[in-house]
Amino acid sequence: MTKILVVAEVKDSEIKKPTLELLSYANSLSLETDAVLIGDGVSGQADVLAGYGAKKVYVADDPSLGLYSTSAYTSVVADAASQSGASQIWLTSSETGKDLTPRIAARLGVGAITDITKLEVNGDNIKASRPAMATKVIQECSFTQGGVRVLSVRGGALDVIPADAASADAVSLSIPEKDLRAAIKEVVSEAGGEIDLNEANIIVSVGRGVKGPEGVDLVKPLAQAIGAGFGASRAVCDAGWMPHSSQVGQTGKVVAPAVYFAIGISGAIQHLAGMSGSKLIVAVNKDPDAPIFKVADYGIVGDLFKVVPILIEEVQKIKG
Ligand SMILES: Cc1cc2nc3c(=O)[nH]c(=O)nc-3n(C[C@H](O)[C@H](O)[C@H](O)COP(=O)(O)OP(=O)(O)OC[C@H]3O[C@@H](n4cnc5c(N)ncnc54)[C@H](O)[C@@H]3O)c2cc1C
Repeated sequence: MTKILVVAEVKDSEIKKPTLELLSYANSLSLETDAVLIGDGVSGQADVLAGYGAKKVYVADDPSLGLYSTSAYTSVVADAASQSGASQIWLTSSETGKDLTPRIAARLGVGAITDITKLEVNGDNIKASRPAMATKVIQECSFTQGGVRVLSVRGGALDVIPADAASADAVSLSIPEKDLRAAIKEVVSEAGGEIDLNEANIIVSVGRGVKGPEGVDLVKPLAQAIGAGFGASRAVCDAGWMPHSSQVGQTGKVVAPAVYFAIGISGAIQHLAGMSGSKLIVAVNKDPDAPIFKVADYGIVGDLFKVVPILIEEVQKIKG
């Protein structure tokens, strides 16, 4: 029987949106779905998972799990998978998910499909699309062998739809022994108070067209006015105008927001690899032949130093 185990991702004591997307999708297909919740002080989040369709939540709540650890998290997920009897394990394609997905597959001796942007589930038959080679090709993947299906899905690929259920049946898992080979001592967050690009519904990104930190400061109020995450091309990050944690693209963050503004970004293939999954793309560029216009739904050909202040003014008018 098809049964899903969703590996929940928690940050600052909150369930991350891509986890809710996975649960919502499983629930929309009426699939029996459990979740596994790992961390320190996370037990209270079990009901949130139930609110999106998890019937049973396996919980490993312990100070030793407060910081992500590959070996400990792999053991916990494998334990939850065996107890739940899940035929599929779904993870998000976040930094943690990218690390954990192959480890879980290896532990279970099965294959994995990672970084999925389009998912079709029919029982345990899975059809998945995933970009490869900087989005130059889209691979169509399926599992050719039996066993548990392990997969990871990019945030933003699915919708969030609350379910009817309100409380979960919680099961405590045993805490794995400390791994003496590797220990994460501390996680340092670069910027506080910024909207996480992986979670943002709208993203405004700047490219070399802003010409320097002053140009960045000119565009930032647009992001703030519309409650958007603030990203950048690699050229901007390499120049030191914005931190590397803001970089969108092949070697930066891969995002799929509802709306993506590309301001003064040429649209190099490596940048497109990180944002072409956005539902709607708006580009501002003074060069009408800039490649970004090939993927943009709306394009403004013009000088960003003139266009952006007008956009901000119009947003302020709408907000009153
Ligand atoms: C292995 C590898 C990995 C890479 N990974 C990434 C990645 O993850 N992310 C990434 O972004 N890049 C990545 N790159 C770099 C990528 O190839 C491009 O060099 C980079 O994306 C260019 O950034 P840009 O569009 O901001 O700058 P540019 O290509 O210099 O484009 C600037 C744009 O601004 C426009 N412009 C200039 N002035 C104005 C104005 N006043 N008003 C409006 N428009 C204006 C110009 O017409 C131009 O289109 C990678 C490259 C390699 C080789």
